[in-house]
Amino acid sequence: MAALTLLDEPVQDLHPEALVPGGGRVVLVAPHPDDEVLALGGTLAQLSAAGREVVLYAVTDGDASHPGSATWTPALLRALRPVETAQALRRLGVSARVERLRFPDGAIVRHEEALARALDLHDADTVFVPWRHDGHADHEACARAALAAARRQGARCIEFPVWALVPGHPAHAGLPRCRMRRIRVGPRFLRAKAWAIESFRSQLMPDGDAAPVLTPQALEVWRGAGEWVMA
Ligand SMILES: [Zn+2]
Repeated sequence: MAALTLLDEPVQDLHPEALVPGGGRVVLVAPHPDDEVLALGGTLAQLSAAGREVVLYAVTDGDASHPGSATWTPALLRALRPVETAQALRRLGVSARVERLRFPDGAIVRHEEALARALDLHDADTVFVPWRHDGHADHEACARAALAAARRQGARCIEFPVWALVPGHPAHAGLPRCRMRRIRVGPRFLRAKAWAIESFRSQLMPDGDAAPVLTPQALEVWRGAGEWVMA
């Protein structure tokens, strides 16, 4: 699988707890309901099992995932996708405090400053957010907002690839390979992640003739290539 050869050199894997020093909170900023699980579901599960407090900022309800669809209307997606996330978190065994911010899906860039103000951080927090060059405008806007909020409030901020991890995606070629670190996630947590991903039914089902939002090729990467951060 291409993503397994992401790095030419052998890498020193990071233990999840080493990512969040000093017993601080794990704060994850998810642009859409599924980003947190696809990219870092195993890490979240392992940190939660180790007793770390997890706060999930759900920035949008993901209602723009199927533009123009007669089946997956914005109203249905708005109702369904937060429920899918809740089920996925249960399957991961993650008891997170979920702060649902309801910024408009597809237009976070117009609300970056408000998003930065909405992130209530402590200086012991470690904030996880998609990479600032992940190739999706919402992901990149969340990164800028979280980086600004973390800087102001003295928290650490760690970026992770979501779409950029997928070979063939336009953002993949730009991954900063020298900064990429793989997280050593235990097998039982990766099994829980695979089960949790099945919760995102709205994103896994084809829509008439249209392919699912989460294609089998991309899912293979998120399930199989480990979990990564830029450190
Ligand atoms: Zn997303």
